[in-house]
Amino acid sequence: MTVLQSYLAGQWFGSQAAKPLASAINGEIVAHTHDDAPDFAAAVDYARTTGTRELLKLDFQERAARLKAMALYLQEHKKELYTLSRHTGATKGDNAFDIDGGFGTLFAYASMGRKELPSGNVLHEGPVIPLGKENHFAATHILVPRRGVAVHINAFNFPVWGMLEKFAGNFLAGMPCIVKPATATSYLTAACVRLMQDSGALPEGALQLIIGGTGDLLDQLDEQDMVTFTGSASTARKLRAHPNIINRSIPFNAEADSLNSAILAPDVTPDDEEFDLLAKEVVREMTVKAGQKCTAIRRILVPQQHLDAFGERLIQRLEKITLGDPDEEGVRMGALASLDQKEDVAAAVNDLLNTSECIFGGNGDPQPIGQGTDKGAFFGPRLLRSTDPHANGGAHDIEAFGPVSTLMGYGDLDEAIALADKGKGSLVTTFATKDPKNAARVIPVLAARHGRLQVLNAESAKESTGHGAPLPMLKHGGPGRAGGGEELGGIRAVRHYLQRTAIQGSPTMLAAVTGEYVRGAEVLETEVHPFRRHFDDLAIGESLLTHRRTVTEADIVNFGCLSGDHFYMHFDEIAAKDSQFGKRIAHGYFLLSAAAGLFVSPAPGPVLANYGLDTLRFITPVGAGDTIRARLTCKRKIDQGKAAPDGTPQGVVVWDVQVKNQDDELVASYDILTLVAKKKGDA
Ligand code: NDP
Repeated sequence: MTVLQSYLAGQWFGSQAAKPLASAINGEIVAHTHDDAPDFAAAVDYARTTGTRELLKLDFQERAARLKAMALYLQEHKKELYTLSRHTGATKGDNAFDIDGGFGTLFAYASMGRKELPSGNVLHEGPVIPLGKENHFAATHILVPRRGVAVHINAFNFPVWGMLEKFAGNFLAGMPCIVKPATATSYLTAACVRLMQDSGALPEGALQLIIGGTGDLLDQLDEQDMVTFTGSASTARKLRAHPNIINRSIPFNAEADSLNSAILAPDVTPDDEEFDLLAKEVVREMTVKAGQKCTAIRRILVPQQHLDAFGERLIQRLEKITLGDPDEEGVRMGALASLDQKEDVAAAVNDLLNTSECIFGGNGDPQPIGQGTDKGAFFGPRLLRSTDPHANGGAHDIEAFGPVSTLMGYGDLDEAIALADKGKGSLVTTFATKDPKNAARVIPVLAARHGRLQVLNAESAKESTGHGAPLPMLKHGGPGRAGGGEELGGIRAVRHYLQRTAIQGSPTMLAAVTGEYVRGAEVLETEVHPFRRHFDDLAIGESLLTHRRTVTEADIVNFGCLSGDHFYMHFDEIAAKDSQFGKRIAHGYFLLSAAAGLFVSPAPGPVLANYGLDTLRFITPVGAGDTIRARLTCKRKIDQGKAAPDGTPQGVVVWDVQVKNQDDELVASYDILTLVAKKKGDA
């Protein structure tokens, strides 16, 4: 008998069997939860002390590298998870969402972290705002890891992805977490946590696991902690209102039931490709994970005149769905996660039938194929058709968390929007249209109440990732009934676990605090050209003030001929005189090139490559006779732990460049991005 263990305060814990967890496929017992009561005060303390300490020994960049290492390890061992996943009712196709999708999210966050986060554990969120006339007093914002623990309470439908999509954010941020998976499928989450530990990439205390209930955990939390929740709206309501959460203003992020919709635009007819594309999308959403997806399409809004035809199109596709053990050949849909869930879905369908009729399924499901499946939690797809689309208490209010969707007719687009909005806030809506004008009209209105909107047409379908797939770089979450929370969305998810603080002081103090040079801060001028220094030796603020160069008529003419840019402002004396500048001026790109000529140290050295420019602005025009000079200052260093193709270890250095004229006016301002070698052997 397998007794699942919690991993708390540095130990695997629990030996007495409690609740049996049955396979959704054949009812066999997969594992038991444990009966032993955890000490949640000790777990929270362990996270705040050991977890925080060990995580903050690393910086953003190093944690991004660890995330990638974990993802690689998990990928190597995914077959172990696939084997267990079958018992949750998942097909091989479903694993692409939960297991591979979870790993993909870790890879995506590792990559985004490497590209978008700095070295160190302070994230500077500029711009710096001067607060005095002489630039002695300024302000900016920094984000730092919260010094608490993130408690993640997850739903049963995505035992792996559900954990990893939240973990990626708090881990990159440098905040430890305690994960509480839904009990029914917790054996799969537990197996994934064990693999993450085996990877060797998980710092001590960074991730703890609860099997079973949360006991007094929420009472142990304080102001630095936070809670994220995915599950039913009723549990979200209960937990959000926990006295300790309210009294201590503990951030609570919820992602709850959502009655997502799909809308077929009136410009689409049954002969159009879009008609079939939407039918395919709906059936996929009804059957992937047996419809147990927070993003699944629950309401299908179709122009009244196409209601019958669309229903028939859906039924043709639903008839091809084979139900059964995912290990059997040809099975397209697995089981619900548990027998309890099957009961819940059946009850919800009964309630839905007060305002709808069943047009597919429900007259006794086909026998699922595979041995022992008569004891499994199988529930065939049900397509309902609303008898009163505007009724309350029906499909706009009841979520049957399974392969169930309700078709309803609408008259015009305003009515379609009004019906979609009756869901009171959802995670995602798909709008199938051929007409960009319809998209431009409908999407901005829907956006107020829907977290993500997919516009589906023949062109986008060729590469569409689908209605139901939350993507790491896109926000996942919706207003109102959908919980009001936000997850994913690229580095925004990391920011949820960081505290944003406004910092005021002199520019030199702001530079010291942020770890970045800010304009007006003291600079370091040495005999050595900054381009002659290795990454390791360069100090933030190290600076070079170049010699001067007077811009000539010949410069303008030569640059125009070399580049082929003969814009009137550089070549037409009369037109230029009539312009806002009153004279011919030099090309902006000439100024960039001339500035590079002033500050570059030409001989081979530690600066390996220039790979881009950021924040470029041309501020004051420069004409023939003006004299320019540049200041180049080391602004930011990012150590990504990478090497050049020839093996030379290197880091990213961002340089602040200011080009000024003879009157000390800023003429051009930008950052340049370079790759700079480290000293040999310093990987
Ligand atoms: P629940 O809201 O009951 O459970 C979600 C999570 O909360 C589980 O981990 C559960 O643990 C935990 N939980 C429940 N009560 C408490 C409590 N008092 N204190 C702390 N944790 C608690 O949802 P289910 O997973 O059972 O699903 C029920 C319904 O929720 C579905 O039928 C569906 O309608 C909706 N749902 C929505 C999802 C979404 O992503 N929007 C996803 C999944 C479900 P335990 O399992 O141990 O009870």
